[in-house]
Amino acid sequence: MSAALFNDIELLPPDALFGIKQRYGQDQRTTKVDLGIGAYRDDKGKPWVLPSVKAAEKLIHGDSSYNHEYLGITGLPTLTSNAAKIIFGTQSNALQEDRVISVQSLSGTGALHISAKFFSKFFPDKLVYLSKPTWANHMAIFENQGLKTATYPYWANETKSLDLDGFLSAIQKAPEGSIFVLHSCAHNPTGLDPTSEEWVQIVDAIASKNHIALFDTAYQGFATGDLDKDAYAVRLGVEKLATVSPVFVCQSFAKNAGMYGERVGCFHLALTKQAQNKTIKPAVTSQLAKIIRSEVSNPPAYGAKIVAKLLETPELTEQWHKDMVTMSSRITKMRHALRDHLVKLGTPGNWDHIVNQCGMFSFTGLTPQMVKRLEETHAVYLVASGRASIAGLNQGNVEYVAKAIDEVVRFYATEAKL
Ligand code: PMP
Repeated sequence: MSAALFNDIELLPPDALFGIKQRYGQDQRTTKVDLGIGAYRDDKGKPWVLPSVKAAEKLIHGDSSYNHEYLGITGLPTLTSNAAKIIFGTQSNALQEDRVISVQSLSGTGALHISAKFFSKFFPDKLVYLSKPTWANHMAIFENQGLKTATYPYWANETKSLDLDGFLSAIQKAPEGSIFVLHSCAHNPTGLDPTSEEWVQIVDAIASKNHIALFDTAYQGFATGDLDKDAYAVRLGVEKLATVSPVFVCQSFAKNAGMYGERVGCFHLALTKQAQNKTIKPAVTSQLAKIIRSEVSNPPAYGAKIVAKLLETPELTEQWHKDMVTMSSRITKMRHALRDHLVKLGTPGNWDHIVNQCGMFSFTGLTPQMVKRLEETHAVYLVASGRASIAGLNQGNVEYVAKAIDEVVRFYATEAKL
């Protein structure tokens, strides 16, 4: 009987993040607040189509040569080449020396998937190091390709700061030539980034062990509102590792262009400076094309055309930069509003980390128990780890959320004393 073939297939629990989205959707309480998924919301709590994106779409629709033909296997060249410039910088030595390979991907996840496929094919024995904690999907993306993952210390819970010593010592202890997945800015979930000086130490340590750096760049423009500042770590890594090891970059336009569902991204590989690049570059490009062809045939075109228009039209690029400032500054304002309300309420604990962290998320320090009570008693939804998407806060709900946090913190503080 064919049904028997499936009898032993295990039922998996729903994805934690999308499970929150589902429960939130079904919640009838009018006061509900979604601080789960990392998607920008405006001050009315609504998804925001960036004015620069609207203008780009208008230009595309007005173009008489517009169509829905397939893209090439490696994607839209005006997207990939301009995307490389914004992450590596127009003055990048790697770009000027023609040693960067750029292909289009299904957003950041797709770029990570291409990396994982590439590693499993060419370096199956290398260990992939992920920060502890990291984005929930990282481990699955690499392990699904049969790669072994390990973690490096990142977040020191006691001090709510970077565990730099632990991080550096993990780099030193890792087998030579391991892969280190680094969040280039606005670390998810902690919202905590190394300082410029700390990045120098991290990259130097990586160089000293001939490790391979993979920069996951899902939030460029979200940490500071400035694309160049947010590309600091990637550019430092590409420069410092230029004679040591190749650098992988997985770039997403989901957040900074608000193109979440359109799946726009790029995979870039900066090769080291070496005479053999003339033959290595076409060989590696052909392998990447083979991976893409067998997985998705060719990447999606619509969002790619929009982002390419943003990047190649100076007036739209200017508007896009303003849009990123609009998003990042509203989030910063909400961080301050939440912290200030908690301070005013006298909520036990120190809440300064909420304003010191950057990007979309705050690692609040709330325990899984508190998060559960927040959801059940107050209809405030966040991830069990205590990660809150600050973009879900607005003038209309931030005080309510602060009061809800105050109640759960006091509830468990009192209970702990019993
Ligand atoms: N990396 C990190 C660290 C992320 O937080 C995300 C999105 N949550 C991604 C990659 C990928 O996102 P997407 O595939 O939507 O671009």
